[in-house]
Amino acid sequence: AMDPVRVLVTGAAGQIGYALVPMVARGAMLGPDQPVILHMLDIPPAAEALEGVKMELIDAAFPLLKGVVATTDVVAACTGVNVAVMVGGFPRKEGMERKDVMSKNVSIYKSQASALEKHAAANCKVLVVANPANTNALILKEFAPSIPEKNITCLTRLDHNRALGQISERLKVHVSDVRNVIIWGNHSSTQYPDVSHATVKTQGGEKPARELVANVEWLQGEFIQTVQQRGAAIIKARKLSSALSAASSACDHIRDWVLGTPEGTWVSMGVYSDGSYNVPAGLIYSFPVTCRDGEWSIVQGLTIDEFSRKKLDATAEELTEEKALAYSCLS
Ligand code: NDP
Repeated sequence: AMDPVRVLVTGAAGQIGYALVPMVARGAMLGPDQPVILHMLDIPPAAEALEGVKMELIDAAFPLLKGVVATTDVVAACTGVNVAVMVGGFPRKEGMERKDVMSKNVSIYKSQASALEKHAAANCKVLVVANPANTNALILKEFAPSIPEKNITCLTRLDHNRALGQISERLKVHVSDVRNVIIWGNHSSTQYPDVSHATVKTQGGEKPARELVANVEWLQGEFIQTVQQRGAAIIKARKLSSALSAASSACDHIRDWVLGTPEGTWVSMGVYSDGSYNVPAGLIYSFPVTCRDGEWSIVQGLTIDEFSRKKLDATAEELTEEKALAYSCLS
């Protein structure tokens, strides 16, 4: 039998956490044969709710779920974990300054980084979901220097999947026939959903999405805005933020990272920039990646036209500013 993999979910009593933990326990993240032990962390005010989630996990009698740790102690939560999904974070509240929100999250991610560094399994893979996701991941990287930088990522897969969904709706094709969209940059409204290299499977073979949509104005306007604003549209409709799609895409992110991307298909992940595509090194920036043997690599050699170049640079600029703001919170 396979040894169980320990999966940490922080903010586990929250909305996304509540949607995510059953998916993990059903094998949506690590595969249908992989046993898991769930580590759930939340803060003391959420401890009772967290106990309730644990009770439901027991009641669901998941065959793959070999154990549940529900705790408010960051060390107990991080000990021995192989995968860490960081969903907990300080929310934006009305009237709060950007710097205050950043400052709260910097201190959360600094302390959780230290706990992961000391107590997680060697080679632990980290996915940051909580906003500002890219910058929280960067802080985590800075304060967990012994975790390889390749192991620290942030979620842009939801944006990626939203882009696939919009192309699929527009062309009335199944979403699984669309591939290789790209989300560049920050998981924020400056992200750039790019279809320049996306393709669609048709009866006549694989065709460029751009050619099939045949409407540059839509692709460079409404399409981009719809993907960028989708989170707000869901809040408006549901009166709550997106949770099931965020949880599902977090599973997609880890699954593809661990088990690999299909031949010829890439996905978007926020990863530590090495300067590819002239994106400043030292930012956590979303790139197109392929994964193999548990490692991602940035897809190289794609042509970037002038329209795209501006968008790549604008979102990089925002991340550079966020990084400076985060560092100013450290001192
Ligand atoms: P959610 O579960 O809805 O969201 C959690 C985080 O994910 C937020 O930072 C949210 O950002 C972010 N996020 C990223 N992508 C998305 C997306 N597509 N849709 C929605 N959210 C997204 O929040 P809850 O408030 O329900 O739960 C948060 C949990 O974290 C609570 O259980 C709370 O107790 C815990 N917490 C932990 C802290 C700590 O560890 N010290 C501090 C504060 C809270 P955004 O805010 O921008 O929506």
